[in-house]
Amino acid sequence: MQKQDWRAALVARHRHRFAVETAVRVPEGWRGLTEAMVREIDNALSPEERFVILSIHKARGQLAMISDGCLGTSTLAYRLYLAAVELSKHRCEVCGKSGDPVLVGNGTEIRCYEHREANDG
Ligand SMILES: [Zn+2]
Repeated sequence: MQKQDWRAALVARHRHRFAVETAVRVPEGWRGLTEAMVREIDNALSPEERFVILSIHKARGQLAMISDGCLGTSTLAYRLYLAAVELSKHRCEVCGKSGDPVLVGNGTEIRCYEHREANDG
C-alpha cells in the first residue's frame, strides 16, 4: 500500500471504534454512506460505551458490519446502521450513484446505468 486510502483514514479518525486498521473493506462507491454511518454511530454512542467495529464489508450484496459489543435494536446507532444497509442496496459500487444489482463476473454487484456494462470496477 502506497498512499493511505479513505478506508484507512476513516479508521484513523475513529480509532477507538475499530479493532484493526484494515477493518473497512467496502467498494469505492460506498465511501460516502460508510463514512457517514461511522461518524453518526460514533456521535450517537457515549465515549465510554463499549462498541468496537471488527469489520465493515459487503455481504450478500449489501453493507454488513461485525462488531464487538451490541448497538441494541432500539437505539439511534442501530437505526443509523440499518439505514446505511438500506442505502447500500441501491448504491453503485463504482461511483456511488443510484443503482441496482447486476451480474458481474461470478457475483452480483450494485451498478448504476453507466457502469452496468463495464466489468472493470
Ligand atoms: Zn456507477
